[in-house]
Amino acid sequence: MMERYSRQTLFSPIGENGQKLLGQKHVLLIGAGALGTGNAEALVRAGIGRLTIVDRDYVEWSNLQRQQLYSEEDARGKLPKAIAAKARLEKINSEVEIVALVDDVTAESLENFVKEEHVSLLLDATDNFDIRLIMNDISQKYGIPWIYGACVGSYGLSFTVLPGETPCLQCLLNTVPLGGATCDTVGIISPVVGMVVAHQVAEALKLLTGNTEACRRKLVSFDLWKNHYVSMDVSKMKQAGCKSCGENRTYPNLDFENQTKTAVLCGRDSIQIRPSITGGRDLAGLKRVLVERGMAVEGNPYLLSFEIENHRLVAFKDGRVLIHGTKDVQAAKSLYYRYFG
Ligand SMILES: [Zn+2]
Repeated sequence: MMERYSRQTLFSPIGENGQKLLGQKHVLLIGAGALGTGNAEALVRAGIGRLTIVDRDYVEWSNLQRQQLYSEEDARGKLPKAIAAKARLEKINSEVEIVALVDDVTAESLENFVKEEHVSLLLDATDNFDIRLIMNDISQKYGIPWIYGACVGSYGLSFTVLPGETPCLQCLLNTVPLGGATCDTVGIISPVVGMVVAHQVAEALKLLTGNTEACRRKLVSFDLWKNHYVSMDVSKMKQAGCKSCGENRTYPNLDFENQTKTAVLCGRDSIQIRPSITGGRDLAGLKRVLVERGMAVEGNPYLLSFEIENHRLVAFKDGRVLIHGTKDVQAAKSLYYRYFG
């Protein structure tokens, strides 16, 4: 066991003691795309105690260029990312406990999770700003640090939010340009992923080995194509009146009533519908019905997929349905009700 981590424990700020601490920590990783797979592999190799990965998507061919844990087999089988990532990570380090959740992150699901499980760190690897704002409020409410990471094109950005110390994401929203494009609209090159992952993992290692004082506390952004690197002091942007971290905080992003059930997935011709069904969807039963209606259904134990009128419909075990090939919510809903209603 010690041989495995010998090069890391030789690094004096970590040492044997830091390694021991690391082995007791639980990281909640939100998103298992490019940033998620990079962060997961590094932390699992480093020997964290437990990693929970939440992701709502399945592996597609366009992911393989930069999402380092996935193979052609995963794309061919449309394996959910969390499941494929867990299988690969367990081969890399069997000492780490890895939990895969094929699910959408909502304010409610995230809050229930951190109430039940002790989470040492929230790691952002989502491309969804609404989810980041939910993470931000959970982080403030439960005093758990989180590490923001984003990348698109050749541009990347990272910031570590330490509750009670640094400004939070809500404080920065109106003052710092945080970008809006996603890689589905302008593309992305893989080295920028590696650079953001490096910044996130370094910060995670500091936090998880008892070296919080070494955390960066500045917002970094870089463009690897244009050769820009900026480290911005944002400490003065902490706002006393902030609704998420200020004195009279209300955690606006945890208001369950604000959560929409239908979401247009950013930058993609896809709509997600999340019905309020409990106990999940009976995929075997659904498959029988669809086959009887003449559909060519593909799938695995986690999802079913079939095509209809130039749309691809993917039904997940947790109840969600993705409708690819449209941005029209009404059209998506009518397809949903025709096949699942
Ligand atoms: Zn704030």
